[in-house]
Amino acid sequence: MKNAPCNCGSGLLGPSCCDPFLAGARAPNSPLALMRSRYCAFSKGLNRYLLDTTLPKLRAEIDEMELQRSIEDSVWFGLEIHDYQQNGDQGEVTFSARYAQKNCLYDHHECSTFHLHEGRWYYVSGKAHFRQQKLRGAHPCPCGSGCKYKSCCASKR
Ligand SMILES: [Zn+2]
Ligand SMILES: [Zn+2]
Repeated sequence: MKNAPCNCGSGLLGPSCCDPFLAGARAPNSPLALMRSRYCAFSKGLNRYLLDTTLPKLRAEIDEMELQRSIEDSVWFGLEIHDYQQNGDQGEVTFSARYAQKNCLYDHHECSTFHLHEGRWYYVSGKAHFRQQKLRGAHPCPCGSGCKYKSCCASKR
């Protein structure tokens, strides 16, 4: 999918957006770019990237197996950035993301904080809340394809 639009929803193609970050070729130069690339990592199941972009001293708190399981169980439907600010070595991004896990659809809303550490931006923590709704197989797929969920994204998991 080399020339597909980037999963983060920027409207750019992957190679001009998050792909170089995910491949480790470049580091995101702002909290917003990091946030977008982390969304892509969630949607593509790149749990290594999620760990590597978490502030080093906080990584030990992440259960990598659990992260991987949760990612494998999820289908992602889009990212929306609501607010963004950067102040010196601190950054904040408010966003919402939609995803399905098992047969539930989540509207996840979060304010994430980021920190510039030794020349790189890292994810620190997030204050999140979400709404949850049952997603039945016959439900129109949240990706907007017009197909039923069970014959669309549910089957790509
Ligand atoms: Zn992107
Ligand atoms: Zn779908």
